[in-house]
Amino acid sequence: MKHHYIFVVGGVMSGVGKGVTTASIGKILQARGFNVTAIKIDPYVNVDAGTMNPVEHGEVFVTDDGDETDQDMGNYERFLETDLLSTNYMTTGRVYQTVIEKERNLEYKGKCVQVVPHIPLEVIGRIKKASANAKADITMVEIGGTVGEYENILFLEAARMMHLEDPENVLFVLVSYLPVPPHLGEMKTKPTQHATRTLNSTGIHPDFIVCRGEQFMDKPRREKLSVFCNVKPESVITAPDVKSIYDIPALFESQDLSTSILKRFKMKPRTSDLSKWKAMAAVQLKAEKTVKIGVVGKYFSTGEFTLADSYISVIEALKHAAWANKSKIQIDWINSEDFEKDEKELKRLSEYDGVLVPGGFGTRGIEGVISTIRYCREKKIPYFGICYGMQLATVEFARNVLGKTTAHTVEVDEATKDPIIHINPLQKKNVRENRYGGTMRLGAYDCDLKTGSISRKAYGSATISERHRHRYEFNNEYAQALEENGMMISGTNPGSGLVEIVELTDHPFFVGVQFHPEFRSRPLNPHPLFKAFIKAAIK
Ligand code: GLN
Repeated sequence: MKHHYIFVVGGVMSGVGKGVTTASIGKILQARGFNVTAIKIDPYVNVDAGTMNPVEHGEVFVTDDGDETDQDMGNYERFLETDLLSTNYMTTGRVYQTVIEKERNLEYKGKCVQVVPHIPLEVIGRIKKASANAKADITMVEIGGTVGEYENILFLEAARMMHLEDPENVLFVLVSYLPVPPHLGEMKTKPTQHATRTLNSTGIHPDFIVCRGEQFMDKPRREKLSVFCNVKPESVITAPDVKSIYDIPALFESQDLSTSILKRFKMKPRTSDLSKWKAMAAVQLKAEKTVKIGVVGKYFSTGEFTLADSYISVIEALKHAAWANKSKIQIDWINSEDFEKDEKELKRLSEYDGVLVPGGFGTRGIEGVISTIRYCREKKIPYFGICYGMQLATVEFARNVLGKTTAHTVEVDEATKDPIIHINPLQKKNVRENRYGGTMRLGAYDCDLKTGSISRKAYGSATISERHRHRYEFNNEYAQALEENGMMISGTNPGSGLVEIVELTDHPFFVGVQFHPEFRSRPLNPHPLFKAFIKAAIK
């Protein structure tokens, strides 16, 4: 089977859901029995997303092979129910880095190395490699940003060149936005017409236009866009705001999008099976009970939108687990600094069925997190700590159970007498030499689980693999003292003996994990620890 490529580009404005659109188109083609993979292209100069502030840029997603990528990669993994690799992600920085390295190694054999064509050719090489690696029938390629900016022009050029080479097997989707200005109360198509023309000026013509908007697009507007943008009416797709992103594949199928795409590719249509997916998306509407989870961390004043983006995989994993427990979920964001100002505020936590502390960095709000963990431990509120949430659970235990009152992570207190979370020499060197990019403990590592633990029971297997992203580690010098006082070390890395999971035995659910289980949760295959946490919370 030939490789087919679908480029997804944005028009009018950013933030309209290109990533979910890309993932959803991939899903409906996968549901027709084709092997689909997805690539994210980010136009910024950063080599990866690891050095970017998640409050500004959204979550840093981590792949099995340890790449720190854009959060859209998480959407692709969740929708396509697959694990993607570093080859599925690229940035301007990464592409230039390779081209410059090749030039230094004389790989261009004395030629003048130019922005065009050498940069687009490197992009094309990467796209084809990812597609071949995944043995994909169809490869979704999302180009970040919107048409008309300088930043993504070389990626559009790569796409244009691929289309020129093989027009039948390359197609373009423009994801646009149709505003409804309140003073008019009418959906406007002009910005999309302009976006199409801007795309045309790069030598690319969209085969499909996905029209995002608050509302459904009506027939007159579909016809108008068809005529003015020069695409068939059935190729103009309406994509109004929906309750859940998991409803979008079915929304596209109700407009026969996969049939139209397969027709355009001259691929034989196969029957579609989206039934399991649709059933999953429907559970949330039927669920009667609601489980209330408090997520505690240092939170920012930038409003909920950014917040949700910074922790998108945690939020999605909580939803998947709630639905698997036939429940809806309410997630409240709790600023740990509130507890530093006034300890009495901790009582607020008893309103929750469970408390989760997600990953994080730095010193702000940390004492508030530690008080939170103490409260959950003592009041027997189900507690799930992820990465920093695990590290701080051991700090809390060392301080308040072992009586080592100044115990800390060296991330916050370098000179602490009891460095229960410490840093290995290699990482120390990285920090000293300001080598921050791509140097944390990253990607998938095996973990052996202890018989009789909550984790062993939840996973149902003795060895698991989970993705990491952290610089600091549990200090094994404290292992014995913890275990003697009731904290079980239930997960360790087989090679290094690094502690990956701690839990409490005399508690309904108290689990801290050094890794990021949220990256592995899928809507149809919720993560076992999230599922067990929510189950305990409901109980
Ligand atoms: N800041 C901690 C570390 O670097 C935890 C990181 C995280 O939570 N992702 O080890």
